[in-house]
Amino acid sequence: MTRRPDNDRAVTQRPAQARKKTSAQAGAKAAPVPMTAKSRHDLRLVCLSDLHSLKPACPIPEGDVLVIAGDICGHGTLYEIKAFDSFLADLPHRHKLLIAGNHDWPFSRVPKKARALIKHAVYLQDSGIDIDGIKFWGSPWQPFFCNWAFNLPRGAPLAQVWAKIPSDTDVLITHGPPYGILDRIYNGDHVGCEDLRAALSRVRPKLHVFGHVHESYGVREQDGTVFINASTCDGRYRPVNAPIVFDL
Ligand code: MN
Ligand code: MN
Repeated sequence: MTRRPDNDRAVTQRPAQARKKTSAQAGAKAAPVPMTAKSRHDLRLVCLSDLHSLKPACPIPEGDVLVIAGDICGHGTLYEIKAFDSFLADLPHRHKLLIAGNHDWPFSRVPKKARALIKHAVYLQDSGIDIDGIKFWGSPWQPFFCNWAFNLPRGAPLAQVWAKIPSDTDVLITHGPPYGILDRIYNGDHVGCEDLRAALSRVRPKLHVFGHVHESYGVREQDGTVFINASTCDGRYRPVNAPIVFDL
């Protein structure tokens, strides 16, 4: 995929091969090497989550990195994952990052098969990727509730997962929210993860993207981090919320 020239952050020198002198030029003064100056333009992130195999009501905006914070499936079948990859294939973003959510059973039950179906995104599961010097980390786990994929008990088991997040992470992607931030369900209760909230004080990412709690879609800035609950579906599983764009 071609990068937009106005978005080119990299500093690239002409390849060494092109600077080699021919024998006729050997005595001549070396020509200056052209460089592409680093642009101050942002890396545009387009964040969405919780599509649940539904067609989003809003178009997906263009950007450099598409971030999908889990719950791509409704029922949790391999067929849904294949269909989601076809949806990704038609989107223009030069990087696409995906984590699983509690509905995305195949990534838990038949991980090899599920991952093999994702050809148009990088799947992150307690792993990271560096894009233009920005460090991303993705993890699907959430506090135990009902019988769902990627559940873990609150306390030590979740704390161990969050301990894997590198301290220099710029963009954290989890399926569920941290406790107290965009994590209220319909009755006003906070259901986010306390252990994730504790890990944030160590990691202090620039951006934290999640979903899972459909009712708390939105953006909040707190303690130097921008938090995005990017749930596409609302509390009634209607795919009405727009993706959230963030320039890093
Ligand atoms: Mn969901
Ligand atoms: Mn969920």
